[in-house]
Amino acid sequence: MELGLNTAIRVYQITKSILFSGFPFEDCKDRLALVTVAAGLRKAAVFDSPELETERLRTVLIDVGFITLRAKKIWVRPSLPLRGFKQQYVDIFEARHQPSRTPVLWVTTTKTEKDKISAVESSSDAGRVLQYPACCVRENIEEIRLVNESFLKALIKQVGENPQKIKAALKNNVSVELDIPDSIARGGNVELTNKQYPFVFHVACNSCLSSSDSPSATLNSHYQQLATDIDPKLRDAIFKLISVMDQLKDGQTDAERAALMSQMIDIRSRLLSSVS
Ligand SMILES: [Zn+2]
Repeated sequence: MELGLNTAIRVYQITKSILFSGFPFEDCKDRLALVTVAAGLRKAAVFDSPELETERLRTVLIDVGFITLRAKKIWVRPSLPLRGFKQQYVDIFEARHQPSRTPVLWVTTTKTEKDKISAVESSSDAGRVLQYPACCVRENIEEIRLVNESFLKALIKQVGENPQKIKAALKNNVSVELDIPDSIARGGNVELTNKQYPFVFHVACNSCLSSSDSPSATLNSHYQQLATDIDPKLRDAIFKLISVMDQLKDGQTDAERAALMSQMIDIRSRLLSSVS
């Protein structure tokens, strides 16, 4: 298939009636993620929303010339080994039952890339295939390791050094107090990335967030430009959704949250029903 702006616009238009996600911000971002591949800016994209109309999307994309791949989850094993535990406990932890949200759908355009996607095992493999900045992938996998180490440590402290008890506690989703920096616990970079780089598909690292001349900043400006070229209303919808999401706060009533959610759904409906 021929990649470029014309294909990207066509793909955007013919997938407008397909639901990508029940959460409007994710839905609009997924539309943009797909067209980055159609435009030739990225070699692959992955979609993991439970509401995605997977079969409808696959049918349309295969017809255009895309290659699609379904997988149980984006990656199957951690990128960095846990430190400071007996191997037996690490094995139990890694074998734990982790329900994935839903099967995921990968999209690409070449056989070479399809083979790379098939070989994805860890989150750092996935980050490479999705062309996320290496600095952000590295920080992310280090944070995941820190959270997992802290979790396993707390769990062992709580149930004792007994493999059967550790297994049972993991199975029963026992909750423990984590000893990790607040910024990591709150997932602060997700929110900051949404505000600062609303057009990227990864979580930016601290270094990217503190520099306007970073890999994340560059990607953000390329993807924002693409959104503008595809449909300025898509770019505007992403900005509007960010500003509504910013009004979601802890301690709001269900009615307040529902009102903000319905504003977001409205923004998406107006975008997708508009003729460009
Ligand atoms: Zn970075």
